Formats: sequence, structure tokens, C-alpha cells
Amino acid sequence: MVLSLAAAPPAVSRVAVIGAGAAGLVAARELRREGLRVVVFERDAAIGGTWVYTPATESDPLGLDPGRDIVQSSLYESLRTNLPRECMSFLDFPFSSRRAPDGGDTRRFPGHREVLRYLQDFARDFDLYGLIRSRREVERVERDHDGRWQVDSRSVDEAGGDGGDESEVFDGVVVCNGHFTEPRIAEIPGIDAWPGKQLHSHNYRVPEPFTDQVVLIIGSAASAVDISRDIVRYAKEVHISNRSLPDEPPRKQPGHDNMWLHSMIASTHSDGTVVFRDGSSVQVDVIIHCTGYNYHFPFLKTNGIITVDDNCVGPLYKHVFPPSHAPSLAFIGIPWKVAPFLMFELQSKWVAGVLSGRIALPTKEEMLEDVKAWYSELESAGWPKRYAHNMSNKQFEYHDWLAKQCELPPVVEWRNLMYEAAGKNREARPESYRDEWDDDHLISQAEEDFTKFLY
Ligand code: FAD
Repeated sequence: MVLSLAAAPPAVSRVAVIGAGAAGLVAARELRREGLRVVVFERDAAIGGTWVYTPATESDPLGLDPGRDIVQSSLYESLRTNLPRECMSFLDFPFSSRRAPDGGDTRRFPGHREVLRYLQDFARDFDLYGLIRSRREVERVERDHDGRWQVDSRSVDEAGGDGGDESEVFDGVVVCNGHFTEPRIAEIPGIDAWPGKQLHSHNYRVPEPFTDQVVLIIGSAASAVDISRDIVRYAKEVHISNRSLPDEPPRKQPGHDNMWLHSMIASTHSDGTVVFRDGSSVQVDVIIHCTGYNYHFPFLKTNGIITVDDNCVGPLYKHVFPPSHAPSLAFIGIPWKVAPFLMFELQSKWVAGVLSGRIALPTKEEMLEDVKAWYSELESAGWPKRYAHNMSNKQFEYHDWLAKQCELPPVVEWRNLMYEAAGKNREARPESYRDEWDDDHLISQAEEDFTKFLY
């Protein structure tokens, strides 16, 4: 679909960014680069979002109680990145092992503390700390009569209590609140009568509490793979249920005596038994739901203009701008199955350029048409709406599209090739992909690229 470009909107000057994770930090940098005045609201004391590990967990281990105290991070203690560090680099700020300090974590797939250090370095080197209001939670964002945005926030003191409330008006709001905090859990027949313990991976930290237990992990994505390997060293047995598997007898996992892969759960029972669709059954002590997360914007009041329907946030033009509120409201980081930091950066450059008036958007009607066309494409492909932001095979095209809007060259080839190589390696070597790979030639290309920026 070819879209005409409407006249550039009047430039905005003062922008609120919600969240100081990777998305909020790079958004703040890009907005300021475009000459906008930026305030970043961050409810935590620290910057880094997901990458601020805490041993603390939520009062409701399934994360369903809306009144629970929210813990932002879903990291477990042993977590190492599932992408090579080169692929996690922002364009002009290499996450090179050459940047790690003496004694730092120079592994290609480093532990989570190294990622946090990278983000802290990013904030320091680009002088972002002065823009951030820490321990300030945004509670309400609503458009006022003259089209500006009222942002209500409260200060959160160290003990988690309430401090002062504030209300301010901004020309634009960029939402960067993260999408790995509101757990989604599996629907399991009979679960109300099942007597065991349940938690979501959001509240998993360390394996020791599962010593000698029979643990059932639901899911097939990165956290299910990691957590099963973490726990299997301590648990009596680990069973993994993957709903995409055919209903065949359970398979013992190569390299493990006490770990099996099952098809989907058929039912659970009051005697603690879990029955699978393959007909097998196991007496289980704990179920861990590694079943992903829902988008959640509790502070956003748009009178139903922007909704989350079957985990699709919409309508959003190119996953970023809601046509009715464009360009003054934008979302960074919605798509999944991506190289997140790179995508955040490209989306942020686009948003910043549009908000400053340098880059034009299509008309509202054209943007809505584009969203409709995207939904139709999904429907014809037989994908449910909740796959609307899954970029698995469109990521590279999307990045280049964003780059083009910003008059930047397409993303350098090694990044795409490395992302693909890492995915294939992860599949081929699920136990060791973080320490064995075949793409050294791409690392050389990345390091060559990085020499422009390392100092
Ligand atoms: P977050 O990091 O969640 O930051 C959002 C920020 O917004 C937080 O600081 C939060 O406190 C703040 N906030 C939220 N609501 C409010 C409010 N109302 N008011 C004020 N502040 C608010 N990505 C990779 O690239 N490589 C990996 O290996 C990788 N592994 C991962 C492993 C796990 C277990 C998870 C959960 C994610 C992983 N990711 C990985 C994805 C990761 O989430 C992204 O890389 C990225 O860090 C997300 O950044 P974000 O800024 O969008 O969100």
C-alpha cells in the first residue's frame, strides 16, 4: 500500500517518556537529539527496567491479583542473554566485550548484570540521568481539551509507600513501560481442585526451592527452556508441556535422566495428578507457567480509542502511532520476536523525527487503512489477533522501513545474518548455544563496524 504523506504536524516541544528501561532511555536520547524537552518518569529507583535483577517476587506468585505490589523484572538469577551481545547493541553504542571493565563479563551471551551495566553506561555517556525522575510512577495519562496530555504521577518512596502527587501537561507522551510484567497463564482443566503450587516464570528466581520436587513447566519459549535447565539440577523430575507438540508419548530430553517433554495438558486432578493429551500422567508438586505476558497500560485513559484485544494493541500505525492521537502519543517496543534494542532505537528515531516536525506521517485515514490492511493480512494467513505484533519473519523489513522514514541507510547486513544464525544455533544446540557457535566471521564484521564508535 502506498501512502501519501500529510503535511508535517506542528512540532511539539515537551515530551513525557514513561519508563527508563532500554526503550525509554533510547527514546529520551533521540527526542533530545531532535531538540525536544524530555522528562522520563520511572517508578523504580534504578534505571534499566527488566535488567534490574531483584530476588524479590510478587505476593501473588501467579501475578493475577490486580492489587499486588508489582515487581517489574522477570529475570532469574542465572539468566544469560539469549541474543549475542553484538545483536543487542544500539547502532552507535557497541555492546562489545571490549567495553567490559577488568573483571567484567566478556562472554558473548553475558549474564544479566552485564546488560544492566551497558544500559547504565549508555545513560551516563549520553547524559540522560538528568532527564529521569526516579521513583515516580505515572498513574494517569489523558488528553485534555486542547489536545495536550495531562500526566498524573505519584512519588513512590523506598518502602513502596505513597509520596506526593503531581499533575503536569505535556505536548507528547511516549509510552515505554515494558511488556514483560503482566503474566499470562495457561487455562488448565481441573486446576481449581488441583492441590499443588503454581507460579508464573515472572516470579521464578532460583532453583533451590524446587529441590526433590516434581516440577511441570508449561511453555516452549526461551524462559521455559532456561528455567527447566536451571531447575533440573535440583528437582526430582522436570516435565515440560508444549502445546504445539503432537499427542505422542513423552520424550526424555537428550542429556538429562530426569527431564521429559510432553504434549499439552488434558486435565489436572485433586490427587495431584496431571494428565497429558498423549495419555501419560504424572504426580506433580509445582506447575510453572512460562506462558508469556500481556500488554498492560493501566495509566492510559483514551476512552476506548486504544484497546488491548486478544493481546493486540490497537489500532497502531506500524505498531507505534495510534492514528487518532498521532503523533502526540506513541508506543515504543510493542513488536515481539525482534532484536529489541535495535528496534527501540529505530522506532525512537522515527517518533522523535515526527514529533519535532521533521518527518511527516500519512493522514489519519490512511494510517487506519494501513492498520486494517495489516489485520486482513493476518486473518488471511490464519493468524489470531494476538500475533499482530509478532515480527518473526518481518523484522528486518520493518527495521529497514523505519530507517527509511528517518532517511537512514538500511540496517547493516551482519546484524540480520547474526540474528538468524543465533536462532538456528539455539535450535540446534539448546544446551550449549551460548558457548558454541559457527558465526565467528560475523563477529569480526561486527567488531569492524564497532571500531567507528569504540573509544
Ligand atoms: P522494561 O525494561 O520493562 O522497562 C520499562 C520501565 O518502565 C521499567 O523501568 C518500569 O519500572 C517503568 N514503568 C512501568 N510502568 C511505569 C509507570 N506507570 N510509571 C513509571 N515507570 C513505569 N532482550 C534482549 O535483547 N536479549 C535478551 O537476552 C533478553 N532476554 C530476556 C529475558 C527475559 C526473562 C525477559 C523478560 C526479557 C528479555 N529480553 C531480552 C527482552 C527485554 O525485555 C528487552 O530487551 C528490554 O529490556 C525491554 O525494555 P523496555 O524498556 O521495553 O521495558
